[in-house]
Amino acid sequence: MTQTTASTCCYCGVGCGVLIEHDGEKILGVQGDPAHPANFGKLCSKGSTLHLTGDLDARGLYPELRLGKGLARARTDWDGALEHAANQFAATIREHGPDSVAFYISGQLLTEDYYAFNKLARALVGTNNIDSNSRLCMSSAVVGYKRSLGADAPPCSYEDIEQTDCLLIAGSNMAYAHPILFRRLEAAKAQRPAMKIIVVDPRRTDTAELADLHLAILPGTDVALFHGLLHLLLWEGWIDPHFIEAHTQGFAELKTLVRDYTPASVAAMCGIAQDDLLRAAEWIGKAPSFLSLWCMGLNQSTAGSAKNSALINLHLATGQIGKPGAGPFSLTGQPNAMGGRETGSLSNLLPGHREAANPEHRGEVAGYWGVDSLPETPGLTAIELFEAVRDGRIKALWIACTNPAQSLPDQTRVREALAACPFVVVQEAFFTTETCAYADLLLPAASWGEKDGTVTNSERRISHVRRAVPAPAEARADWAITCDFARRLERQLRPGMPSLFDFDGPQAVFAEFVPLTASRDLDYSGLSHALLDAQGPQQWPFPTGARQGTPRLYADGRFPTADGRARFIAEAYRAPKERREQRYPLTLNTGRLRDQWHGMSRTGTAARLFGHVEEALLSLNPDDLRLRGLHDGDLARVHSRRGSLVVPVQADSNLRAGQAYLPMHWGDRFLKGLGTNVLTLPAFDPLSKQPELKHAGIDVEKVELP
Ligand code: SF4
Repeated sequence: MTQTTASTCCYCGVGCGVLIEHDGEKILGVQGDPAHPANFGKLCSKGSTLHLTGDLDARGLYPELRLGKGLARARTDWDGALEHAANQFAATIREHGPDSVAFYISGQLLTEDYYAFNKLARALVGTNNIDSNSRLCMSSAVVGYKRSLGADAPPCSYEDIEQTDCLLIAGSNMAYAHPILFRRLEAAKAQRPAMKIIVVDPRRTDTAELADLHLAILPGTDVALFHGLLHLLLWEGWIDPHFIEAHTQGFAELKTLVRDYTPASVAAMCGIAQDDLLRAAEWIGKAPSFLSLWCMGLNQSTAGSAKNSALINLHLATGQIGKPGAGPFSLTGQPNAMGGRETGSLSNLLPGHREAANPEHRGEVAGYWGVDSLPETPGLTAIELFEAVRDGRIKALWIACTNPAQSLPDQTRVREALAACPFVVVQEAFFTTETCAYADLLLPAASWGEKDGTVTNSERRISHVRRAVPAPAEARADWAITCDFARRLERQLRPGMPSLFDFDGPQAVFAEFVPLTASRDLDYSGLSHALLDAQGPQQWPFPTGARQGTPRLYADGRFPTADGRARFIAEAYRAPKERREQRYPLTLNTGRLRDQWHGMSRTGTAARLFGHVEEALLSLNPDDLRLRGLHDGDLARVHSRRGSLVVPVQADSNLRAGQAYLPMHWGDRFLKGLGTNVLTLPAFDPLSKQPELKHAGIDVEKVELP
């Protein structure tokens, strides 16, 4: 008989509610959940085809172990697999110290999985070497919020998108990356045509098509644009001096800095018309409410933190925060990147929005966990971590639910690191990823629809992800794999001590975690799996005793800084790391397609999702194609300083001359040789350590077929 289980979509950070139709064994269909406040019953092309992505051929079913490099892996059982892993990790830690091992985890994991991994790394192993692929996704937004507002907390709700009078979308093609939110925006615009929409993007995307004004800036010049807008807001008197005076600090320094960002100089730097800059400033300055949305176009940059801060400056200068339809609102890419931030799953963080570098914070968490101390040595961030694997400092690496051999920049180097690492564990639902090839131990994980836990979406809303069917064969939930391994490792590292990992289910993991949020800015100590079941998804803060969540932060103008004031950040525009030059005259931008997700381990199993875009195509302006004697569909070799690949090209007049676009999704399985990220560079932002995935120097030449 068909049953229905309410759960949450496992793709993007919109966090839509889904109703899984199943027979207790197999998922049969998916509908949007009309009761879920993110999507009210709607689903995009990816969400509505989730039931078509359960192909068992791609799934890991049994643990597989390789007993020596160069040998084939063979099936083993869980006991043998995890005992072997515990022995390898314990021996490495004893011989080389706790910082010789590392964990690289994922924004796809549930909050309970994240928490278990964090406790394993910090409390048991004693290392801060635990980072997440969220480092590639939103670590610049984390820095932006913390520096400007005092806490890593997006202050807005999705309903603000519908209520605003002026919306600035920067570096986000939300029509593809956050489709259901975009539909909500389209509906709001149809109802309230007077709402102004400004889109900042070098490409004319589907999102830009909806805009009243598209600012097609030159790639990477966002900081100059935002400073130029502030210059005009100041000049025209469209700022809020009362808000600045009462609730902020540091405006004088910023005012001095933006004096040089005149309309003429900014228009030249950004490659846009002065009139358009003026129009944007006027709309922002005169709007009763002003909201901004942004995503990877700002975050994935060597100036990602500065871009975030420069945009937040505009809100502080105009007092456009803490009220309906207003505020700086970063969109998260992955379904639970927010949960990772909350549980401390970036190497510099600890659970409950604490800092690993803060002795008081370390003491609080150590006390809560009942261990003497937490490690002090700073942990490595994604790019640094794989560099440490490559040069031999990391000797045992545990990767969960992510595919660094496809998704990290400068892929050749990452793969050299993986090949050289003495012991690599990959915990993964899909054994088809590029990273699996490097695993000495492959552990089959349960996937969407097969495990329980929670996720937090972009608007701080925590939803219950529910299990509808059993995981296939011997696949297990991620938190359970982690805790089983941890119990075996602690028998070696803390013999005779009570276990830190005696959880009887994900609800117990969540129950242990939430008190760590109490009295912190994100306080959701009032939540439990049972409460989410009874009352539905809730936004944090949701402290103990609360009856409902909190849709909007900073309504009282107080910020979680020492003096309660927000900070203006004054940082000059910095050009991207790789400039255009004779050998690499084109600038490569990478990003998402509408119907694919990350490295396509899941979406690549559904034929229907290739209906939108069938194959990897490099988009170039028609003039750049002509210059190189290329035509639509021709095969071209694309070179960067790091490597090359061969793809067909297509003419795209939505790109200016000198720019190129290649979707991020394609890896070995879909391209001959290495994937898109063989071209990208590992340079990163100095504060957020987020790599510059959207700006690489390349050239393109025709491949002559024999
Ligand atoms: Fe899933 Fe995002 Fe689509 Fe919603 S918008 S159905 S969360 S992929």
